[in-house]
Amino acid sequence: VIEFVDVEKRFGDNVVLKDLNFSVARGERVTLIGPSGSGKTTILRLVMTLEELTGGYIYIDGEALSHEDRDGRRVEVSKKAQKQLRTRIGMVFQQFNLFPNMTVLENITEAPIHVLGRSKKDAVAKAHSLLEQVGLPDKANAHPTSLSGGQQQRVAIARALAMDPEILLLDEVTSALDPEVVDDVLAILRQVAETTNVTMLIVTHEMAFAKDVSHKVMMFDGGHVVEEGHPDKIFSDPDEERTQKFLSAVL
Ligand code: ATP
Repeated sequence: VIEFVDVEKRFGDNVVLKDLNFSVARGERVTLIGPSGSGKTTILRLVMTLEELTGGYIYIDGEALSHEDRDGRRVEVSKKAQKQLRTRIGMVFQQFNLFPNMTVLENITEAPIHVLGRSKKDAVAKAHSLLEQVGLPDKANAHPTSLSGGQQQRVAIARALAMDPEILLLDEVTSALDPEVVDDVLAILRQVAETTNVTMLIVTHEMAFAKDVSHKVMMFDGGHVVEEGHPDKIFSDPDEERTQKFLSAVL
């Protein structure tokens, strides 16, 4: 469902990703690990079309996000196609990114109503059931600023799920949270992983979580995949020295 072919991404002279090839199958949950600055967040932002490629190809369901014209210039998919694509992908960010001027309920129902064209009644009913699922049934009318970080992140998860995404991108979703609420947020995501078939691409420093939910772990460094495999293998018996070093520093 997601395919990276010879992907290159540079910011000016800084080549962040180079010759990157990997794919994620439908329903698969893949976690990206690696040192800070290795380009993990950039990968998620490329999938979400929040960044433009500088080389290679990314396909979502076989559809290329950009291509090269006859003169070798890159052409992005149209804004309309990007918008359409983003409706199928949910993303949860480190910093929650809720709309501060809207209530919790409005945050969750905005896109289903205005982008998917669902009725307000259906969107509101679904939002209430999602708030129940994330343990915030009484916060529908609250404003994000009145919520704790952990609560805001749970709303952000509900907002992403309200779109029934095919793909869920999780970008260090617990990194900005107080340690005591990290497990609550991870428990919700574990449940999503267990009860749905949503394809997940996850960037996290929570190795126990990565081990539990992932079908595959990819270790990144210097813009490359250093090593990839089943979490049991990567976490207990990695082949590469760089993976061993990284894991012994974080575990
Ligand atoms: P972390 O774990 O610290 O979030 P990461 O592996 O997710 O790291 P990225 O955030 O993808 O890494 O960043 C990779 C590199 O790309 C860094 O060197 C960063 O400075 C650079 N970079 C990311 N976004 C931009 C941008 N918008 N403009 C310029 N450079 C950028």
